[in-house]
Amino acid sequence: MFDLAIVGAGPAGMSAALTAADHGLTVVVVDEQQRAGGQIFRQTPEDFSGSVLHPTAGYGWATDLIRRFETDTRLTTEFGWSAIGVLSDDSEPDCLRVAINHPEHGTRVLGTRRLLIATGAYDLPVAFPGWTLPGVVTAGGVQTLVKAQKIAPVGDVVLAGAHPLLLLVADLLVRDGVPVREVAFAQSIPTPAEMLHALGAVPGHLRMLAETGAILARLTRKGIRVSPRTIVTAAHGTDRVSRVELARVNRQWKVTGTPRQVPASHLVLGYGFSASTELARQIGCDLVYDSPRGGWVVAHDERLQTSVPHVFVSGEPTGVAGADQSRAEGALAALGVAVSLGCAVPRAAFTEAERHIRKATQFSTVVQRMFEPAREALGDLATRETTICRCELVTRDTLDGFLESSPFVSSVNAVKLSCRTGMGPCQGRYCENSVGAILATARKQPIGLGGRFSAHLPIKPVPVGDLQTLDAPPEQSEPNDPGTPPHRAFSAGPRIG
Ligand SMILES: Cc1cc2nc3c(=O)[nH]c(=O)nc-3n(C[C@H](O)[C@H](O)[C@H](O)COP(=O)(O)OP(=O)(O)OC[C@H]3O[C@@H](n4cnc5c(N)ncnc54)[C@H](O)[C@@H]3O)c2cc1C
Repeated sequence: MFDLAIVGAGPAGMSAALTAADHGLTVVVVDEQQRAGGQIFRQTPEDFSGSVLHPTAGYGWATDLIRRFETDTRLTTEFGWSAIGVLSDDSEPDCLRVAINHPEHGTRVLGTRRLLIATGAYDLPVAFPGWTLPGVVTAGGVQTLVKAQKIAPVGDVVLAGAHPLLLLVADLLVRDGVPVREVAFAQSIPTPAEMLHALGAVPGHLRMLAETGAILARLTRKGIRVSPRTIVTAAHGTDRVSRVELARVNRQWKVTGTPRQVPASHLVLGYGFSASTELARQIGCDLVYDSPRGGWVVAHDERLQTSVPHVFVSGEPTGVAGADQSRAEGALAALGVAVSLGCAVPRAAFTEAERHIRKATQFSTVVQRMFEPAREALGDLATRETTICRCELVTRDTLDGFLESSPFVSSVNAVKLSCRTGMGPCQGRYCENSVGAILATARKQPIGLGGRFSAHLPIKPVPVGDLQTLDAPPEQSEPNDPGTPPHRAFSAGPRIG
């Protein structure tokens, strides 16, 4: 049995793994990607020759963190494997059984004393007419294709949203020679008062802010239109996008003007991120609703322990707060795990980890405030004909009709049970935000009051046959002898060490 299983090899998971190993714990790290780095430091596959990671400004520490993680022979890694759920085992209350699945190698069960959820975040989906047309992609999706596979869109692109990632992606595309027609931001240009508030974000982040300024200057120099207070209201086309409809909005992101049409073959959307909490939901962790921090986030104590015994959390599932904070939380969670397993951890180690978190929070709270999505206004973009749940093909018309005929329904799970939104393979990742916003508007209540979708094993789609091995006893870890290469059974992805 491992001392600690970590799901996610982003900044949070990597720093947690190294800290836990430093305290003598046996650690396994599971990540569905082929290599370490998470979303922000996504690496190309190992067989892409000559690709070197160039972290964005302000993240100089990333290269060293990844190198240390990738060369640490104390760690067991399972790349290419998805954690699909945790099974309860009454006969062994101190053991958590984590089910992991690989597209070619089926399902295995890992035994662990502690679990750390460091699953990151995903692009916030927004439903509006035409959002399911081929050619409509999320900013993170495009960035992933360009960064990890060196694949860029062919044709001209409009980017729309409300998050600085949009600028990074626009810059990436322009550098790849992709014609960018326009970058539309729903926010206004910050007022002097807002800029004054944002000063809190400056210390330690000058390089990052300077890079953002430089990107803006590069885009405008190339004649690319960057439009504030502009939202996408529709994507048009027959079998794929051919034009994008943009409209002026007020400060609350409500459409004020007549939409205009921009020809484009791709529409890239970047309204921010949702915390990835499916695993935490499936295990039964308490969640809280916090819109600026990514919607539903995992509740935890000061050592990042969740409401479920032996389960810890770090990084974006605690709130979308950037890579600095994720890395700091990973270290703190690992110290908490070490203490919970009886290791002696000096108070100074906690003090240091908490100091890093405080510093990162100074920046992240400003960013969260500045870029919080206006969720009700985004919910209003869907017309009656718009598909809300793309897995089960449920339209807004169905939701509105159901809510009109069932005036006492006030939870998103009740909508799910009656209308099938969130019952498909994505388990609500695409539609939960829209359903929450539509329900809130119909009931004139805050979005969080409608609750959240529950999640069940498997949290990611797997062939039914892959589930038959779930009854097998959990695998045992091998002792962490530094001379022993990492665990190799069943593995398909490239290994560390
Ligand atoms: C698509 C995308 C692109 C981004 N690009 C940028 C950027 O360019 N600049 C920037 O400043 N910020 C970016 N961010 C924000 C960025 O996610 C955070 O700042 C930072 O990476 C968070 O670190 P983390 O360790 O919490 O999570 P992540 O870095 O997201 O790492 C989480 C890891 O968990 C893995 N995972 C998730 N669920 C499972 C599962 N069930 N089983 C197995 N593995 C799982 C994922 O594959 C991922 O590697 C991006 C976010 C996303 C979603």
